[in-house]
Amino acid sequence: MYDVIIVGAGPTGSYIAHCLASLGYKTVVFEEHERVGEPMHCTGIIGAECIKRFPIFDGTVLREVSSFKLFSPSMMEMELRRESVQAYIVDRTALDRSLAEKAQRDGALYHLGSRVNDIEVLEDRVRVETDSKKTYDAKAAVIACGFHSMIPQRLGLGKADDLIMGAQAEVSTNGHRELEVYFNQQMAPGFFSWFVPTFPEQALVGLFSRQKPGWHLRMLLDKLYQRGRIASPEAKITYRGIPLKPLTKTYRERVIVVGDAAGQVKPTTGGGVYYGLLCAEVAAHTLHQALSTNTFSEEFFSSYQKVWQERIGWELQIGYFARRLYDGLSNDQIDYLFNITASNGIHESLLQSPDLSFDWHGKAIMKGLHHLGPVREIFNQGGKS
Ligand SMILES: Cc1cc2nc3c(=O)[nH]c(=O)nc-3n(C[C@H](O)[C@H](O)[C@H](O)COP(=O)(O)OP(=O)(O)OC[C@H]3O[C@@H](n4cnc5c(N)ncnc54)[C@H](O)[C@@H]3O)c2cc1C
Repeated sequence: MYDVIIVGAGPTGSYIAHCLASLGYKTVVFEEHERVGEPMHCTGIIGAECIKRFPIFDGTVLREVSSFKLFSPSMMEMELRRESVQAYIVDRTALDRSLAEKAQRDGALYHLGSRVNDIEVLEDRVRVETDSKKTYDAKAAVIACGFHSMIPQRLGLGKADDLIMGAQAEVSTNGHRELEVYFNQQMAPGFFSWFVPTFPEQALVGLFSRQKPGWHLRMLLDKLYQRGRIASPEAKITYRGIPLKPLTKTYRERVIVVGDAAGQVKPTTGGGVYYGLLCAEVAAHTLHQALSTNTFSEEFFSSYQKVWQERIGWELQIGYFARRLYDGLSNDQIDYLFNITASNGIHESLLQSPDLSFDWHGKAIMKGLHHLGPVREIFNQGGKS
């Protein structure tokens, strides 16, 4: 019998595998794809704080980012520039592979091309069944299988009830190296779109949208081609969603859910790697305690949720509130917000404030709302600015 079975070899699953295997626990990881890190769905923007905190990014960083250009629907431009590096662009495939290799060197066993179909929680173990109808037993299981898995629901843990779809394409560029983010409810309804240069003369162009992400991305690619940013509007589009709200319950006896599968994603940006790793760290610690004391009760595992919520719970709530506010804005209202943010010093004050952080948005959202006055006033001003 294994100590821990992990479902999914994304960053959260492999990080937990690395932590537990390095402590000597018999750890096995199941990954439905034949190759770790493929297909790649992520843009790979990781905040400086995450890179500093988790020493797992060696050899995967493509470039540093110290400024972002934000564009309003009418292409009003606002630059977020700081002296220090704010974020890094990471090669996500390389990151997933390097983490899996670390875990394997520590002794974790990987079954690739092996999809977990079912998990049964028995009195003294968990039993996993794969698509080849083989079963494997362990003392505990980690569900780290990403967006929109049915496994948490089958285990009685419910499902994420607000999801948004992402679409992204790798394109050749004309050499433009600025990272750009476009806010436009017609281009990316409910979210935003991006142009993120990665390798020289290459970029990831993508968006999150509540409707027709592929259609919207084709429109964006056409626009970027017309502006001379990219060499061709033709590109292969990949799709993947993200949850905007966490599961209400992320544990039960012998089971922990982590990362996108648990909804541990920033609702403001759709970034999930850092929050997922923070929660994976809590999960690994909880499992270490469970295994070393042979305690696998639901009550014991509830400490996992308590601790991760202390770390990121407020951020998820305030971020979701901001996301819903943005959902209701028209393009005119977004232009208006850009205008007053740029014209009355809010932009400068936010940039100089330690509250503006790549990974923690709650305080900046509160500060922004305070500067902007009552929210109703902002809505009333839409289109009249
Ligand atoms: C378009 C897009 C851009 C993004 N950009 C960023 C970004 O710039 N920065 C950032 O921080 N985040 C970004 N994200 C979010 C980020 O990709 C996720 O938050 C992150 O990958 C979550 O990691 P995870 O380990 O929880 O899940 P995943 O990375 O999704 O890994 C889950 C793994 O489980 C496997 N799996 C699923 N079901 C099973 C099963 N039944 N059996 C076996 N294996 C299974 C999957 O194949 C996958 O390999 C982006 C997301 C999208 C869609």
